Amino acid sequence: MSEQAGLNTLCVHAAHQPDAATGAVAEPIHLSTTFERDADGGYPRGYRYSREGTPNRAALEACVASLEGGAGAAAFASGLAANMAVLELLNAGDLLVASQEGYYGSLRQFTVFVERRGARIELVDLSDVAAVDATLARHGGRARLLWIETPTNPLLNVMDLKSVTALGHDAGALVVCDNTFATPVCQRPFDFGVDLVVHSATKYLGGHSDVLSGVVAVRESGALLERLQEWQRMAGAALAPFDCWLLRRSLATLALRVRAQCAGALEVARFLARHEGIERVFYPGLLEHPGHAIAAAQMPGGFGAMLSVCVAGGEAAAVRVAARTRLFTRATSLGGVESLIEHRASIEGAGSRAPANLLRLSVGIEEPPDLIADLAQALG
Ligand code: PLP
Repeated sequence: MSEQAGLNTLCVHAAHQPDAATGAVAEPIHLSTTFERDADGGYPRGYRYSREGTPNRAALEACVASLEGGAGAAAFASGLAANMAVLELLNAGDLLVASQEGYYGSLRQFTVFVERRGARIELVDLSDVAAVDATLARHGGRARLLWIETPTNPLLNVMDLKSVTALGHDAGALVVCDNTFATPVCQRPFDFGVDLVVHSATKYLGGHSDVLSGVVAVRESGALLERLQEWQRMAGAALAPFDCWLLRRSLATLALRVRAQCAGALEVARFLARHEGIERVFYPGLLEHPGHAIAAAQMPGGFGAMLSVCVAGGEAAAVRVAARTRLFTRATSLGGVESLIEHRASIEGAGSRAPANLLRLSVGIEEPPDLIADLAQALG
């Protein structure tokens, strides 16, 4: 596959060709947990035991690496399992610098893991480059990992990938970016020097709300990728062949889906920004978003399809709006073909940083005028 191939071409063809044995155009599913050795005891076909790797997992990993523009990838049984494979790089005494705002499950995972490992964590406003610089300087080269999530879940904060990554590298840290919200369709963190990209593949990569999965991609081949593959073998949080197959199948339509979802989200955001029942819209595609200029520079493929709003009238009004939608389903998670709406603070629970009147919207592939009509009737 040519490196210059367009995104839809990569989505369809990366690591995918008709099956050599049968000519099947659709990828076969290899459920076998074990693979035959040759008479001399070798494994010339590359597979031994499914925890270590399967044909379906290899195809999925190669496809994600290609879409992100990286050298390789490792798939796991959830987004948090993918995060965990990266956190394993921390030794006792090492420092993890992460955003103070981001997916609450990741932040909880970081805090608990770091404490048990005897490492340390510093949470910073990563959208403030000067604050990142000051934090890294204060810790004088002890940061092992710098963890970016942009745009963030659920407040859609934008971090400057190029500047923050350069600061992380100057401090000797490996830089990780959670690219779940943006997807490689909108933003390719490796273009800005990031070392590792993590995904909750449960979201846009899967795209149909039916596979729990995660992926870590690496910019360069070598020790980092080998360490992740070792963790796949040791921790055993392998993604099953059927799930790998479902994901690879979904990736064929990733760019089609995400581009349509981004276009829909922009229309929905513009409508909500003008609505008197809405106090504030968080969407980086709007000119008034504080991170708009940075997002425009580092998200050439679109501003994503996630947005949040603060509803006028407080928490009760927000819950009432979510109760009245007909096309938007009230559910957590995101990135599927169907639009979802959720009252974020109540799903995050104690310690949530989400305002009490915040609703998070995941815009699907439905026609934008239908989604807008649904929100208009729900807002009354
Ligand atoms: N990262 C982000 C940005 C998320 O939104 C999520 C889940 O919502 C995760 C990671 C965790 O992924 P999973 O639920 O697949 O473990």
